[in-house]
Amino acid sequence: MPTRNAMWDRLGGDVDLLVVGGGITGAGIARDAIRRGLSVALVEQRDLAYGTSSRSSKLVHGGLRYLEQYEFSLVFEAVSERRILLDIAPHIVNPLGFLFPIYEGSSHGMGTIAAGMWLYEGLSLFRSPKRHRRLKPADLAREEPPLTQEGLKGAPLYYDCSTDDARLTLETALDAAEQGATIATWARVESFLRDEGGRIVGARVRDTLGEEVREVRARAVVSATGPWCDDLRQLDHPETRPLLRPTKGIHLVVAREVLPIQHAVVCFHPVDDRVLFAIPWGDRTYVGTTDTDYEGPPEDVAADADDVDYLIEAAGRYFPDHRIQREDIISTWAGLRPLISGDTQEGIDESMVSREHQIVVDPSGLITIAGGKLTTYRRMAAEVVDAAVNLMRVTGKLPETLVAAQTDEVPLPGAVGWPEDDDHERVSRQVLAASGGYLDSVTSRLLADTYGMRGRQVAQRIKADPSLASPLVEGRPEVMAQVDFAVEEELAATVEDVLVRRTQLFFRDRDQGLGAAEAVAGRMGQLLGWSAEERQTRIEAYRAVVALSRRWREEPA
Ligand code: FAD
Repeated sequence: MPTRNAMWDRLGGDVDLLVVGGGITGAGIARDAIRRGLSVALVEQRDLAYGTSSRSSKLVHGGLRYLEQYEFSLVFEAVSERRILLDIAPHIVNPLGFLFPIYEGSSHGMGTIAAGMWLYEGLSLFRSPKRHRRLKPADLAREEPPLTQEGLKGAPLYYDCSTDDARLTLETALDAAEQGATIATWARVESFLRDEGGRIVGARVRDTLGEEVREVRARAVVSATGPWCDDLRQLDHPETRPLLRPTKGIHLVVAREVLPIQHAVVCFHPVDDRVLFAIPWGDRTYVGTTDTDYEGPPEDVAADADDVDYLIEAAGRYFPDHRIQREDIISTWAGLRPLISGDTQEGIDESMVSREHQIVVDPSGLITIAGGKLTTYRRMAAEVVDAAVNLMRVTGKLPETLVAAQTDEVPLPGAVGWPEDDDHERVSRQVLAASGGYLDSVTSRLLADTYGMRGRQVAQRIKADPSLASPLVEGRPEVMAQVDFAVEEELAATVEDVLVRRTQLFFRDRDQGLGAAEAVAGRMGQLLGWSAEERQTRIEAYRAVVALSRRWREEPA
């Protein structure tokens, strides 16, 4: 895999499709298009999954609650995609049990929920990761002790999936790169190139880690810029009406021992009855999310104290003996839902705004995709590529030989050779063996769960240079070899890329990776030839990212 700098050097000239935005949607479009036989360049202003795609609830799910809004087609589509993602990315899409506790006075009766469960499984054509079952209060006392028993009538246990959203995005983009797509990160579109008729025929792209500007000419240009998509459309046409009504959602992370749940738990907020999740996450638990209208630059989005207190209050209602205190919070993250606005959506509550996506083709030829979900990215991507192909056909620019993309069958890079029975432990043993015995079983498992079969490549680096087995944070399983792998195989170019989206130390480490930043910058500097000044700039930039996520702590309690 070329490094990020090598990708930048490759950028320029003519391609069939230019994709702007390296979130899950843009990565999915690049993968679909290159696999159909189009030549593709993708440009992302920061890192892959820098935007919403690393800030979701990290679920690949059908969206049980959309049944209440009668959005059956949305649920059907999502549960079908869940099945496909389990097949093409089994290493990072994992079945997760969800408890839906019902209490006396709850707005959801046991009967309604039971019917909903059958409908949910029916829409998946009974191919859920596992069948649901009903737990009685006594079962729950045994299986989920932190959950309050007061007024508890029972709970269905049903299954959806958890994922690493940033890694799903990364692997989708890496697959596109392996097929020949240019994936240029830290590369921002600053303006469009037009023909004499005013049609968009490419873009000027700036290296956001340097100064250089390059021109990319394309038969079609797609904006998959999520919460930024109105900025792009206004770059095209300043008068354009906004497409989006973005809403902010935050999550908070605590140590697993603070909230020691075994299953994900569906909660309803005691004040406004909104649905929330508490989700077990290895040695951590996270709680989310909020849903409030947001105005302001997408890059400034962060949790505020009200958001945090709102989640603490809801968790306290369900887990009264394990109340989260503000001091317990290790990290927070905040993202923007790129929800569609439009006249029909005005005046309705934020949580009721439809999650469906929309594809808009402007008179200039700019194709914009907005809305949607992580779970349904693959279908959305296929629709966008269809739109781009149609546009090329109309403008007489369609390449002759296109083939079926088969993105529903071809495994993502880490899933190539993954065991049929989804045995993570077996892969973990292979990783351990590949390290020549320099790794322990905990790190081997982490590498298997994170990289899938590619975990063996990380381990082989350790066998060749055992110093790479040194932990990034004392007492934690992440190791230095992951930094090398991130730079040389995964397009990482900054300390933030490594600590937030390649290793998740930003979310999981008690110090949010601040203690590791110097060592990571030192190693990246060696690999990428940074000057001392550049190394310091990258460390400072990372500190700023952490400070933004902690801004809420400065607000009064
Ligand atoms: P983004 O991921 O935001 O990507 C857009 C990219 O465009 C960004 O990386 C940005 O840097 C780049 N960009 C912007 N301007 C430019 C430019 N000028 N040049 C180059 N690049 C540019 N969905 C689920 O299925 N499951 C969930 O559990 C779930 N939970 C969610 C929880 C929250 C709180 C939120 C906010 C959303 C959640 N979603 C979930 C929805 C899902 O995360 C989003 O729909 C999805 O990530 C959007 O991806 P995207 O690629 O469209 O946008």
